[in-house]
Amino acid sequence: MPCRFAEVIVNVHNRKVDRAFHYAVPEKLPVVLGSNVIVPFNGRTVEGIVIGFSDTAPVTAVKPVLACIEGEAILDKTLIELARWIADYYLCPFIEALQCILPASLGARREIIVEIGSSLDDPDIRALTLLDPELEKLVQAIWRGRKPVKLHNLTKRLGKGIMPQIEMLAARGFLNLTTVYKLPAFRDSVSENEGVPTRKAPVTLTPRQLEAVSVIDAAVHGQAKTVLVHGITGSGKTQVYLHAIAHVLQEGKSAIVLVPEITLTPQIYREFSEAFPGQVAVLHSGLTDRQRANEYKRIVSGAARVVVGARSAIFAPLRNLGLIIIDEEHEQTYKQEENPKYHVHEVAKKRAELCGCTVVLGSATPSLESYALALSGRYTLVTMGERVGQNPLPPVEVVDLREELLAGNHGIFSRSLLAKMTERFSRGEQAILFLNRRGFSTFIICRECGYVAKCPHCDISLTYHSNTGLLRCHYCGYTVAAPQDCPSCSSRKIKYFGLGTEKIEHELNKFFPNVKALRLDADTTTRQGAHRQILAAFERGEAQALIGTQMVAKGLDFPNVTLVGVVSADVTLNMPDFRAKERTFQLITQVAGRAGRGVRPGDVVVQTFSPQDPSIKFAQTHDYQGFFTQEIGFRRALGYPPFNHILQAVLTSEAESSLIKCAQDLDGALRQEVAKLNQNARHHLEILGPAPCPLRKLNNRYRWQLIVKGKKVDELKAAMGYAVKQLYEFGTTGGLALSLDVDPIGMI
Ligand code: ADP
Ligand code: ZN
Ligand code: ZN
Repeated sequence: MPCRFAEVIVNVHNRKVDRAFHYAVPEKLPVVLGSNVIVPFNGRTVEGIVIGFSDTAPVTAVKPVLACIEGEAILDKTLIELARWIADYYLCPFIEALQCILPASLGARREIIVEIGSSLDDPDIRALTLLDPELEKLVQAIWRGRKPVKLHNLTKRLGKGIMPQIEMLAARGFLNLTTVYKLPAFRDSVSENEGVPTRKAPVTLTPRQLEAVSVIDAAVHGQAKTVLVHGITGSGKTQVYLHAIAHVLQEGKSAIVLVPEITLTPQIYREFSEAFPGQVAVLHSGLTDRQRANEYKRIVSGAARVVVGARSAIFAPLRNLGLIIIDEEHEQTYKQEENPKYHVHEVAKKRAELCGCTVVLGSATPSLESYALALSGRYTLVTMGERVGQNPLPPVEVVDLREELLAGNHGIFSRSLLAKMTERFSRGEQAILFLNRRGFSTFIICRECGYVAKCPHCDISLTYHSNTGLLRCHYCGYTVAAPQDCPSCSSRKIKYFGLGTEKIEHELNKFFPNVKALRLDADTTTRQGAHRQILAAFERGEAQALIGTQMVAKGLDFPNVTLVGVVSADVTLNMPDFRAKERTFQLITQVAGRAGRGVRPGDVVVQTFSPQDPSIKFAQTHDYQGFFTQEIGFRRALGYPPFNHILQAVLTSEAESSLIKCAQDLDGALRQEVAKLNQNARHHLEILGPAPCPLRKLNNRYRWQLIVKGKKVDELKAAMGYAVKQLYEFGTTGGLALSLDVDPIGMI
């Protein structure tokens, strides 16, 4: 006996309808689990997703499903469960979690089909068509092929003016108009056609790599524990992934490989498609709709069994999943900033739990959270402490910029970095210069009156871009011509301070006019494929220097790079965020790891005003454990993750005074609730704020935040949930927007 009712989550973004509704399934409709359907809802027709079936419905007047969108269902039971968990954990509506799993571009196209409804011999219609030649043409056009036609084609042929006649015939029952919904057609693959290379000769794994592979194998066959591979830069983690995947494929299973930003690391995709020709699908935001649709088809049909992609590839609809690999697991891009604000680690672990597969996290600089879980035994830890081929890690020289100033060097390059560049360039070797900030100057001030060029929409100073001559806001994109004289006092004493990647390029040109440099940052990579071209040109040796933001810190493997310069480590270090030190340590270690990967040894120079900072000192000695031990102590003292969960509420409004009132009201309700919870809880909840966000104004909206910390994430959510409800029931919340972030990453 087939189930009679479909449980549908409707595509209506309103918390009040954030639950399943029951619809009767007409027999002729091919409704299956995960189907996109069209249903009547509050007098409209809306799209919805089938998340289950039942024999009974809670109400008697059940409406029917109107249409079922053709195409293969992407969602299966596991993915629907995963969406349910995401909605619950990250406090978002179920429909948002489902849509996050479904690729946006697979949205249905609507089509109206016209067919003859009653016999053409009907005397009425005969009479009508005889009276009206237009109508006769219409009926003939529909009748000609003796099959239903698309309304779109009819109006194209006969003109839009024919619509009243069509409607009249439909109203009298001579024509039937049916609305159907279709997924866009799948086309041939593009991704695999880029000259899929032949299988390369297999490499012989080092003992360390073999050990790592066997630990992963054991996890796959055993308790499916999460494995953390802590492998220093150049230790050969990719080969470990490839071998572990080969093993699960042999067993008929599939695998997902996540990389922070696949468009930034074409090398990774190349290696995987070389190892598993024809079996790799790639998923990332740079694909066209057609390419993405095709990759989904290959995945759902089982043709592609390895999916390589960015964050959202964690939802790839692979069946029989054996392994999920998250490379560079410490990267912040693994947290989604929009709703649902999920972290891919948690989603991966949940998916693994639901389908019994293994998660592998890999990094040279694991996040503190992951390493703590590994030390406590909840993850299995594998350490790869040597580079392949016994290449040593490069020595790191830390240059104290205060001393450079004392010695009269006011330039952006220290004497040591200049000397090393001179030497390397003259030998034909390559250098990478890293600075985590783009633009030319980041601070424009009038020395007469103190005016600072700020974005009128955001609480942030504007950055000067020399090639366009514009000041630009890096948050909202606002631009204005760089002023010749002060907009406030008309003085000519406008000074440009602060350093960005454009300035490095400019200075490098001054010192080394014969050295060709390439720049890799958000400004040079707006064009599709630009990123790949820049890296390829550098790889071919067409330039000797590569200047860039954190884009150059990620996974690049260029043997001719023998010098890495961190022009200012202070940019990241001074971010107003409790993870600033961790980020700094990671970035320096990662970018330093780009040096000396070939036969020639490498060198690293780190310039900073804070040479004593632990994140710099431990990066200098490549001492991850040392950094971890020191930093985890701070986290513990202050009750930050991994010792507590954080729930952050960000309130925004165009009017700051009413916003502050809302923040205070929310705070009041939260404190009441937390006081109650703290009475009988073993662990206490702690509230921080309300206070303005570090970025106080963004896109004309003021921003305030309230943070609650505690051991049990459910308690945090319950307390905040209560407070939010109070705020909306009793407060004046006009113009207010509130966003909740469970386990936030960047709290700017
Ligand atoms: P990681 O990701 O750990 O920084 P990679 O996976 O990029 O390191 O490997 C570093 C380099 O070593 C790459 O050029 C890779 O091709 C090479 N390599 C890895 N494993 C082996 C091996 N077993 N034998 C020879 N070369 C290897
Ligand atoms: Zn001025
Ligand atoms: Zn702005």
